[in-house]
Amino acid sequence: AQIRRGLVQRTKTVCTYCGVGCSFDVWTRGRDVLRIAPERGPANGISTCVKGKFGWGFVDAPDRLVRPLVRREGHFEEASWDDALDEVAGRLRAIVAEHGPDAVGIIASSKCSNEEAYLAQKLARAVIGTNNIDNCSRYCQSPATMGLWRTVGYGGDAGSISDIAAADLVVIVGSNTAESHPVIATRVKRAHKEGRSKFIVADLRRHEMAERADLFLRPRPGTDLVWLAAVTRLIIEEGLADTSFLDERVEGFDAYVESLAAFDLATATRLTGLSEEQLRLTARMIAEAERVCVLWAMGVTQHEGGSDTSTAISNLLLVTGNYGRPGTGAYPLRGHNNVQGASDFGAMPTYLPGYEPIADDEVRQKWSTLWGVEVPDRPGLDNHQMIDAIHAGSLRALVVIGEELGIVDANATYVQEALGSLELLVVADLFLSRTASFADVVLPAAPSLEKEGTFTNTERRIQRFYRAMDPLGEARADWVWLCDLANRLGAGWSYDHPGAVMAEAAAGAAIFAGVDYERLEGYASLQWPVAADGTDSPLLYTERFAFPSGRARLVPVPWVEPTEQVDDDFDLHLNNGRLLEHFHEGNMTYRTAGIAEVTPGPFVEVSEELAAERHIRDGALVRLVSRRGAVRVRALVTDRVRGHELYLPMNGRANEEAVNVLTSSSTDRATHTPAFKELAVRLEVLDDP
Ligand code: SF4
Repeated sequence: AQIRRGLVQRTKTVCTYCGVGCSFDVWTRGRDVLRIAPERGPANGISTCVKGKFGWGFVDAPDRLVRPLVRREGHFEEASWDDALDEVAGRLRAIVAEHGPDAVGIIASSKCSNEEAYLAQKLARAVIGTNNIDNCSRYCQSPATMGLWRTVGYGGDAGSISDIAAADLVVIVGSNTAESHPVIATRVKRAHKEGRSKFIVADLRRHEMAERADLFLRPRPGTDLVWLAAVTRLIIEEGLADTSFLDERVEGFDAYVESLAAFDLATATRLTGLSEEQLRLTARMIAEAERVCVLWAMGVTQHEGGSDTSTAISNLLLVTGNYGRPGTGAYPLRGHNNVQGASDFGAMPTYLPGYEPIADDEVRQKWSTLWGVEVPDRPGLDNHQMIDAIHAGSLRALVVIGEELGIVDANATYVQEALGSLELLVVADLFLSRTASFADVVLPAAPSLEKEGTFTNTERRIQRFYRAMDPLGEARADWVWLCDLANRLGAGWSYDHPGAVMAEAAAGAAIFAGVDYERLEGYASLQWPVAADGTDSPLLYTERFAFPSGRARLVPVPWVEPTEQVDDDFDLHLNNGRLLEHFHEGNMTYRTAGIAEVTPGPFVEVSEELAAERHIRDGALVRLVSRRGAVRVRALVTDRVRGHELYLPMNGRANEEAVNVLTSSSTDRATHTPAFKELAVRLEVLDDP
């Protein structure tokens, strides 16, 4: 995993950006990152994208936090780790003594390691005594997980990234894959170019994948569930369903078929704006393909019906027999490098590690025995509920690990008001982020290159990363300070290495039974569930679905019109998402000189029709106003968007340009993931170049 020649060291690492989980050697000389060398990554082979290859400037950015900060009389003062952690422990103890353990919440990070997510949830449950623990999958992928839990049982991709290339047909819904998951897009593009597969894209924007697709569907905003259900109904009506698969492996067919009565062609064309021919062609392409997989992302999940649309995707795959073989199945594309792992290892209010439910007495008893304390049975709060609980005065202390809540959570003004009103806010981060600016104590964290651990990528693959350089200044790995804080609160933890944390997680969670650091040495990896003998599961559902009966479940889902609608005052629909060069709000990528130079800030994409109608010139400074707030950005006139639809990338760092100043507090009905994509605004031209 590590080779040193002279002053140059080669260290195996895993990319810290997106959920593809590219692994590569990083060549360093001291703190200088000289080269990224991908050669044998199990997810990426020799590929990376611009972020993995060049996006490491943030590690040595001049404004890295290098000492703890404690707020005294309104101002931050530098402090020793001992003083900072004593302050946190003392104030947490006092809040718990006065208001009980549920007055405290912890938000773990999907940028941190599996071991750090595990320790964060253990700190909440076993030390503080609350299930108020969550992570940023609440902002993105929880609805996809819910759709899979309902229908097939495991909340993860059905197969491996390499399996996607074996599909005859790839259906991409609400995912700008070429920019958000570039290495997966490369696999899809290569198979297509070599004539091995076709692909369909359903999206609001004509992005690169849409341009290349064999069929591009452009439904009205928020209506994916409608066309998915209508296409499934057509397949059944035309006798093209896989009846032997349904008979042998699936439950609930009759009730499901009844639910499709609401999705006749006339209704579907009226609601989605797609033509009957498009829907029939889509049904035929899916039914005739031998192996179909569906990739989806935030364009599906970040709606009030995100879980239901994810369920509709899985229903379609079940009706057509597309699970359990290479090139088939559901692939929710996880956003952050470790958003999968943060949930897998229990940083969720309702699940212990390995998705073992808190509500189950036997499960709680098992973990109570392992930890030697009583695991609380009271249901915990998710991120969204924690913000409401702060406003209500019942949540008084929050520990935030590496999450920029103040900018990335929806309705940012409401969130920032909550952060500013806490009795105690502790933030661990690389930088004095917007969120950290509200903190009482700020802890300087170490990025992946400065520590060891494991990440789990979108295909459930657990991979080790190794320390390539020492932490900068007094920065510490999160697992180190989590242990120090827990011990100040009386825990008696003695982990000396992340491998010891993984061993404990494997002893508790059935899906990690055979995971250990030796089996993960170097470029070795394991895809959960992993049996005790180390046998892993690259492809799920080959014989059984993850329910007691072994059979999958077709689940009826309704379509409900989104709450946020355009009207005379807010007459434009604003979509939002990623850019290739930046990662989310850009706290890391803006600190990489080349990337910041190429893409210095956000812009709003305006259609050619709207530009002509409102006299908006390319480059004009415009103001976007929603029912919650306003931002100012430059207009980019493009044919990627159409009509009265706009697109604002999410890489705004300040309140003046951040999309979440505009978004609302409405959420997915099942998971509380914010409906970021349901947003009405008006546009005002401020100046004209
Ligand atoms: Fe790979 Fe994603 Fe990192 Fe790009 S950002 S190198 S696709 S893991």
